Amino acid sequence: MGLFDRIKKAFGGGEPETKAVEKYDTGLEKSRDTFSAKLNAFFAGFRTVDEDFFDDLEEMLIGADVGYEIAVQLTDELRDSVKLQNAKRPEEVSQVVVQKLVDLYGEAGEAEDNALHYAATGPTVFLFVGVNGAGKTTTIGKLAHQLEQSGKSVLLAAGDTFRAGAIAQLEAWGRRDNVPVVTSEPGGDPAAVVYDAVRRAKAEDVDVLLVDTAGRLQNKVNLMNELDKIRRVIVRELPDAPQEVLLVLDSTTGQNALSQAKEFNQTTKVSGIVLTKLDGSGKGGIVLAIRNALHVPVKLVGLGEGMDDLQPFDPNKFVYGLFKGLIQAPDAE
Ligand code: GDP
Ligand code: MG
Repeated sequence: MGLFDRIKKAFGGGEPETKAVEKYDTGLEKSRDTFSAKLNAFFAGFRTVDEDFFDDLEEMLIGADVGYEIAVQLTDELRDSVKLQNAKRPEEVSQVVVQKLVDLYGEAGEAEDNALHYAATGPTVFLFVGVNGAGKTTTIGKLAHQLEQSGKSVLLAAGDTFRAGAIAQLEAWGRRDNVPVVTSEPGGDPAAVVYDAVRRAKAEDVDVLLVDTAGRLQNKVNLMNELDKIRRVIVRELPDAPQEVLLVLDSTTGQNALSQAKEFNQTTKVSGIVLTKLDGSGKGGIVLAIRNALHVPVKLVGLGEGMDDLQPFDPNKFVYGLFKGLIQAPDAE
């Protein structure tokens, strides 16, 4: 059974049950509305399935930020689809398109490991990277709160020493979460801060160390060198760490987030993606584009401003949130 049928069976027509599904539901409302509007506008002009139809469909999908490769693949596979050849009414054709898209999401995520990995013994280190404003510090603040609530001891490292405001921002999260923060003077050496933090995490047997980093230095090469230096400092002290290098991306930037992902992934070994601000974005489809281009799994999503709006990424809930109204309930057919 493809993902489309599984979702239809699990959610079709019914109301979402769990709190997490609800979060995805509301967090992806904008993306869902944007996509539905594009799809509806496209099918309002529907006449027949011909060459123009496929060209226009491809263009619409690219415009809907599902990613170029997926748009092309989906259109190609639909060309040969018997189901599509048999569909006559616009609603039928639309349903075939949505089914194909949802199933592609499912296939692309089949072997994907969306879980965050923790050390079997000793401190776990998560290193957060990404451009300024992407949501690194906020994500660390929210995750620290959740980890702390689940009974883990947490330590934060203010590795973004470039801006004084960045240190203060992480300190503020530390106070709110009741979690200690290792800092330096503004302009201090980030690797030295991280070194102190790792030593402290070891000495105090801290469960999880979350490392914030600068999104921008004098130039890109400096930034990548700095991240490399930080990583080496961590590995020297804890050979299995960092357990995760999480690239934080702002989903509202759409294609730009995708280019950033490609760039970071070339120079820094990224183990997972945090996609933030989905609540404010009409471009949730970018998850598929990123996954397809990089084969790096999305591990966390920001679905709102609240502490609990940072959620583990669940592909099924995500697709449900993105396509909800577009998947017809079984009895509606
Ligand atoms: P950094 O420069 O990467 O550390 O980014 P910040 O953590 O400072 O975040 C930049 C802005 O994005 C802040 O105003 C955050 O409140 C906001 N932000 C981060 N994540 C989310 C999210 O998931 N949803 C919303 N609505 N805002 C977010
Ligand atoms: Mg920051």
